[in-house]
Formats: sequence, structure tokens, C-alpha cells
Amino acid sequence: MSFENQLVKWYINNKRDLPWRENKDPYRVWISEIILQQTRVVQGTKYYNKFIKKFPNIQSLASSKESEVLNIWKGLGYYNRAINLHKSSQYIISNLDGKFPETYYDIIKLKGVGDYTASAISSICFNEFNPVVDGNVLRLLSRYYGLKTPIDSLKAQRKIKEIGQKLINKTNNPGDFNQAMMEFGSLVCSPFPDCESCAFSSKCIAFNKKEVEIIPVKSKKKKSKERFFNYIVCIDNNYNTMVNKRLSKDIWYKLNEFPLIESKREIKNITTLPEFKEFTKSKSIVINEEKYKKERIKHILSHQILYITFHHLSIDQDISQGVHLSKLNKYNFPVPITNFINKLLI
Ligand code: SF4
Repeated sequence: MSFENQLVKWYINNKRDLPWRENKDPYRVWISEIILQQTRVVQGTKYYNKFIKKFPNIQSLASSKESEVLNIWKGLGYYNRAINLHKSSQYIISNLDGKFPETYYDIIKLKGVGDYTASAISSICFNEFNPVVDGNVLRLLSRYYGLKTPIDSLKAQRKIKEIGQKLINKTNNPGDFNQAMMEFGSLVCSPFPDCESCAFSSKCIAFNKKEVEIIPVKSKKKKSKERFFNYIVCIDNNYNTMVNKRLSKDIWYKLNEFPLIESKREIKNITTLPEFKEFTKSKSIVINEEKYKKERIKHILSHQILYITFHHLSIDQDISQGVHLSKLNKYNFPVPITNFINKLLI
């Protein structure tokens, strides 16, 4: 039996029972594919179930507020994905009569949808012959064909796409073939594969050349960027504090935070910093330095390491338009700030 047909047969017998596989509703497949980018299936399934319960269809998602979508997304990271889902649902309602697009070329026009997601949806839901290329597929095919071009290069991704296209064209069910490649790469040809019991071992080049441990090849990893965030948590006598919204295209876009001063290195005493002096002047507040406390945490993102210090400060003036501490849970803060708030409110 050919590689592609054997792979599909394996998938039919071994696929996991996952909620978005219950039917081929493109809305549900779309949501699952976006959630599963950068997220493991176990964690992604919990978010998927929560998301579908709250927004069971395009109409309910489009008519919701962006803050409600961000609230469901809280903790998943990459918040732009949630914002794009929301925008795209409104685009589908206003421009496509509420009907999910049915071809690769129309699906890829949705905000936040790239080649991978458009290939997955168009093959699974509309039977189009577009191969997916994700981390699992790159690992499986580069091992099976013995490719040593670094998989994080465009050249390798193009080559794998080409191979995938030839394979998928020979199958009867492109959706099952794509899911088979991803499922096999995730469950069998994993980073630590069980090659002895793999049905493809006799033809797998990496296995036969004893190169499974070196393929897929990756180019040198870039060092994560280190950033130093100083949050000013001022609390007045009425237990009000200040909350801002992040509006620059950066991490945590459109989420809330306390007033922030980002510095080049760690700050021992924020009250000596010129930016802090400017901040207190602009807000007409005076800090009670005797009650100054700080708490430092390290938070790791995929390409950044954040050293976050919460500078906890008491002030005697009333904060105008402040937010009462008991109302902070109504805002969408990123996880490390939410954790800090939970401790603050105990
Ligand atoms: S033999 Fe090992 S490396 Fe080759 S396809 Fe199977 S699991 Fe992957």
C-alpha cells in the first residue's frame, strides 16, 4: 500500500475523538484550528468547548463585544487571534450574508487566516486538495524523506508543501489525509518517536540512516528578547487604582494593565526614575514612600522573557476616574497581572 493510503488507513483506525471532529461545520473547524495554533490539544480542547458554548455560531460571535471574546480567550495568549476571529465573523455577516467562505482563496482572505488554516478548512470541510504544513507535518515528512534543510526555512517549507501536494493529489479524501499527517506526526512520529513499532520504518530514510535524532534540522535558535516591565500600582484611600488599555501592536494588544514604565534593566527604586517623576506630576499625585513595596516575577513567552515588577504604592489623593479594587475582575488583564491581582485581593 502507498504511504499516503496507509497513513489515511492508520488515521481512520487511530484518530482521537475530539469535539471539532463531530461534524464538518467550517465555523467549528476554523475556531479549533485557530485555538490549536501554538496550543496543545488537551489545553486547546478546554478552550474550544468554552468558546463554542459561549459563541455556538458565526452570528453569536459577530454580535458579541470584543471584550467578551478576549475574556473567553484569557490565558491562551496571542490575543490577536481572538481579535481577528471576532473581526472575521463580522466580515462574514456583513459581506458574505453570514455564509462561511467555501474555497481556499476565499477562506484565506479572512483576517488571521494563513496558508495552513485555509488548507485545513478547505480540505476538511470542502474536499479541496490543499496540503497542510504545520510542525507535525514538517517533522514527519522531513524524516520519512530524509530532508535535512532546516525546517524553519522557507525553502524547507516550500519543499514539504510540494511533497504534500503530490501525496494529497493521489488520495480520495484530502481532509482525512491532512488530518492523518498531523495526527501521525503528533502521536507517533513525535519529537521522541517509537520507530520500532512504526508501520513506515522499512521505508523511512531517517530511521534507516539512523538520523531520527537529528531530523528535523533546525537553524540556530534566536535568543529570547528580555524586557523589563514596571507596573505602577497606586492605591488611594478609597481603594481605587489606575487601569490602562494596551493599544500599541505589541504583546497583549488591547488587554488591560496598570500604568507601565518599560526600562532597559531592572529598577531597584522606581521613585527615583525620571519617567516616574513625570508620571506622578502628570497625575498630580504624591507617593507615600514609607509604604512602597514591590513584587517581581519572571514570565516567559515564546520569544520574550518578561521581568515584571509590580510597584505597589499608596497615595493620599483620590484617583479621578479610578477603578475600585473589587471591580478589577471585570477587566481583561494578561495572566501574570491577573495572578498578581488575585493575590492583592486576598
Ligand atoms: S520510522 Fe520513526 S521517524 Fe520514521 S516515520 Fe516512523 S516514527 Fe517517524
